Amino acid sequence: MSGPREYCGLCGVTGSSVTPAALVAEGLFAQQHRGQEAAGVAALDHDGTISLHKRRGLVSEAMADAPQSLFSDSIKAAVGHVRYGTFGGDDVINAQPILVNMAGIPVAIAHNGTISNAGSIRRELQRKGHILQTNTDTEIVLHLMSRELEDNNYNVRRCFEIALARLEGAFCLLLLTPDGMYAVRDPLGFRPLSLGRIPEGGWVVASESIAFSMTGAEYVREIEAGEMLFFPRDGEQPVTSWFDGETELFQAGDNRMAQCIFEHVYFARPGSLVFGDSVHRVRLNMGRQLAREHPVDCDMVMPVPDSGMFAAMGYSREIGVYMDMGFTRNHYVGRTFIDPGQASRPAMVMRKLQPIPDAVQGKRLCVVEDSIVRGTTSRTRIKALREAGAKEVHMRVSCPPHRHGCYFGIDFPRQDKLIAYGRTVSEVADILGLDSLAYLSVEGMLSCVSAHSTRDYCTACFTGDYPVLPPSEGIPGKEDR
Ligand code: SF4
Repeated sequence: MSGPREYCGLCGVTGSSVTPAALVAEGLFAQQHRGQEAAGVAALDHDGTISLHKRRGLVSEAMADAPQSLFSDSIKAAVGHVRYGTFGGDDVINAQPILVNMAGIPVAIAHNGTISNAGSIRRELQRKGHILQTNTDTEIVLHLMSRELEDNNYNVRRCFEIALARLEGAFCLLLLTPDGMYAVRDPLGFRPLSLGRIPEGGWVVASESIAFSMTGAEYVREIEAGEMLFFPRDGEQPVTSWFDGETELFQAGDNRMAQCIFEHVYFARPGSLVFGDSVHRVRLNMGRQLAREHPVDCDMVMPVPDSGMFAAMGYSREIGVYMDMGFTRNHYVGRTFIDPGQASRPAMVMRKLQPIPDAVQGKRLCVVEDSIVRGTTSRTRIKALREAGAKEVHMRVSCPPHRHGCYFGIDFPRQDKLIAYGRTVSEVADILGLDSLAYLSVEGMLSCVSAHSTRDYCTACFTGDYPVLPPSEGIPGKEDR
C-alpha cells in the first residue's frame, strides 16, 4: 500500500450458537484492509479460562494453524484483532489480543486507535516498577488495571473504568474477562465501533459493519462515544430486547466528538456503515460536491482504483461526463523479481496500476483521487497516463490537502514529507505535472456526512486543529519509526 494506513480492526462475538471464535475470524477477514501484518483471536471458555492464538500475516495465514480448542462448543465469547504494526514494531509479541494473568484472573485486550498520552503513562508505570513486555500503547491499560487490583482490590470492571479515565486520544477496546466481554469507544469517538445482533441469538461488535455480513449479524447501531457495553458470559441465550447488557458513559463529554472523517474518505470499506453513515453514499456525495466546487471541461472521468472509485462515480454523474477505467489493476501484486535496490520507484508503483492506452488516448482526462499524501505515486501515474496518449490530465481530490500529521491511529508520513505541506495547490499541481488540480473544501467534505459539523468530526490532518493535545514525544510520522 502506498497511502496512509489504519492501525487496526476489531471484532468480538458473544452468545452465538455458531462458535464465537470462528465468527470473529470471519469478521476479521472482512476487515483485513484495516491491518495486514498480524491477526489474533482470544476465546473465553465456559469455565472462565481464556485461550489465545495470534500470528503474523493475513487472517487466513494467521488462523491456518489455530488449535481446534479455540472453536470448541464450550467457547462463550471471543475477541479478535487485525494489526498494522507500526507502534511497537511488527513482532508477534506486539500482535493482539494481549492475554495476561491479573492476580489469577485471565484478561485479554484488543485495541484500535492510538492512546496519545501512552508515552507519559508508560514512563510513570516503569518508574513504579512495572515491567512492560510489549512496545504497544495497549499494554498500559492492563498495567493500570493491575495496579488498581493490587492497591485497592477492586473488581476487574472497576479497575477497567479507572484505567479508562486515564486515557487520552483514540481507543476502541474489546476486553475479555471470565465474566464476559466489554466493548468501549473513547469519549471523542475517533474510531468507529458498531454493534450488531445475530437474529438466532448473540452479539457482534466490530470496527466496521462490513464484518456483520460475514457473521450473519444485523446492524443495530454505532456504539456511542464514551460508551462501555458489557456482554455477560451467561447472557448467551437468544435475546428479544435490542441490547441485553449494561451501558454507561465512563466520561462525561461536552457533546464534542472527533470522529475521523478520513475513515469515510479512504479507509473504510464502501459496504460499511461508519459513524452511522453509509461509506458508499458519503463517497458518492463527496464526488458530487467536488464536481460542484471544481468542475472541469473534460472528455472522460476516471478513478484511481480502488478507493477513488465512488468519488469518481459521483463526480461523473454530477458533471454529466461518462466515467471509464483508465487504469487496470493487477490484483496479484506479490514480491518483486527485481532487487528493490535496483528497481526504480516508478517501476514499483506501476506494478499495481497500469494505464489502458485505448481508454485514455487523445482524451482530456479528469482523474479523481481520494487523497494525495506524499504525491510520489500520483506523479508516476500521471506521467504514465501522458505516455499512454492522454491529451490533458486534470486531477480532482475528494478531500482537502493533507498538511498535518495524525496521532489518533492513522499512519501518515512525517509532516514535511506531505506534498501539500507548505505549498499552494498550484505548486503541487506543477510538481505532479498536472494541467489542473483542485481539492474538496473542508466545508464541502463535512456536508457529505449526516452530522456535518466540526464539533462531530476530526479534520486535524487537513486543518491542524487537533482535538487532543499532541503526545509529549511529538507527532509521529513514518520516517520516525
Ligand atoms: S487527524 Fe485526520 S486521519 Fe487522524 S483522526 Fe483526524 S481526520 Fe482522521
